[in-house]
Amino acid sequence: MSDEIIIIGAGQAAAQAVQSLRAEGFEGPIRLFGDEAYAPYQRPPLSKKFLAGEIGYDRVELKAEDFYASSGVATHWSTRVTEIDRRQKHILTGDGQAFPYGKLLLATGSRVREINVPGFDLEGVHYLRNIDDVTSIQAHFKPGAKMVVVGGGYIGLEVAAVAVKRGIDVTVLETADRVMARVVDPIVSHFYERVHAEEGVKIETGVTVAGFEGKDKVEAVVSGEGGRYACDVVVVGIGILPNTELAAEAGLHVENGIAVDEFCRTSDPDICAAGDCTSHPNGIYGHKLRLESVHNAIEQGKTAAATLAGHEKPYNQVPWFWSDQYDLKLQIAGLSTGYTQAVVRGDPTTGRSFAVFYLKDGVLIAVDAINRAPEFMMAKMLTAKKAVLDPARIADESIGVKELAG
Ligand code: FAD
Repeated sequence: MSDEIIIIGAGQAAAQAVQSLRAEGFEGPIRLFGDEAYAPYQRPPLSKKFLAGEIGYDRVELKAEDFYASSGVATHWSTRVTEIDRRQKHILTGDGQAFPYGKLLLATGSRVREINVPGFDLEGVHYLRNIDDVTSIQAHFKPGAKMVVVGGGYIGLEVAAVAVKRGIDVTVLETADRVMARVVDPIVSHFYERVHAEEGVKIETGVTVAGFEGKDKVEAVVSGEGGRYACDVVVVGIGILPNTELAAEAGLHVENGIAVDEFCRTSDPDICAAGDCTSHPNGIYGHKLRLESVHNAIEQGKTAAATLAGHEKPYNQVPWFWSDQYDLKLQIAGLSTGYTQAVVRGDPTTGRSFAVFYLKDGVLIAVDAINRAPEFMMAKMLTAKKAVLDPARIADESIGVKELAG
């Protein structure tokens, strides 16, 4: 019987899990499979400094080149795992090789949601999930080029912010009536719409993309509302889908993500899952979540490693996330879904620094902090405590951030 731990998927969660398995004292063999040609790297810079060309590959790599070998990990890059045979306790790779496992970690992450409209496969229509996507998009970074970004979420807006600074004519098309509608209050959406307009990005909301036109390559985006947007390049950012198929085909329980408990255990006690691919319980909010964030991938990587090493430690934290656009650092703590009151601290209509506190029946559930790190830190702590806050005190800037807790 094998005592090897096999990790499927070589991203943020996997890199953390390797480090944590050794830190937890697991001394047995570890084998890591990733279908990309690269060792695990950070994705956030792909739509920020790496896309802008301000940092190179050496700054996005998660671990130094010799980390895996020196940690005793057998690595298989450019290798897709195609099947998990739970009865025989082995996995199969695309070339038909079988590798036995003692325990398994699924860290398969997520993939982009594709747009299914005529012309979707024209040259010049791109998505952004991996390093190779960045290279393809950067090839269009020529001053005066016209870019249409489909989707006004974080990734679309970050790409727009980088591209406009490179002298590109950028138009963002968003189906909803405001940007980032899925995750923030209209106050925050309208603030970002103002800043992007100030920086030269055109944002059109209420626009449904109906197709892409062009002979050999994309030349225009057409909308269901009758609009036509001439362009040289399109970047589509309309969300992601968790990579759950491998788990589902192996008979594991899947529900909007691979179902795991607070110890990252799937419905098979020998298999854990971590990161974007999971649906996991959160005691602070009292329901299951599927998160798309570095914080979640790191923390679940740690939790899964502890479980696999035999030291169970439950995962129960306030989710947090960030987005960098221009000189704006947006930090989001908690989940604002279901809020009953949004309280603003600072002035979102002028300047570039304020915070929105989200209360549900008086209890703090989330904050969006724009260039307001102290508010973010304080709100993260108070959200974990389910603190009841006085809206008037939050809004009163003469009361210091530290005093909000009192
Ligand atoms: P991933 O990092 O996606 O890694 C999973 C890996 O598994 C992938 O390489 C995948 O190809 C591979 N894989 C899948 N199936 C198989 C298989 N069968 N066999 C072998 N390999 C397989 N989060 C933030 O918190 N802040 C940000 O600012 C932010 N910005 C982002 C910007 C971009 C452009 C993107 C794409 C993501 C961003 N995120 C951000 C999200 C964050 O990067 C993800 O939440 C995080 O990478 C998830 O880590 P993961 O290990 O679960 O999955």
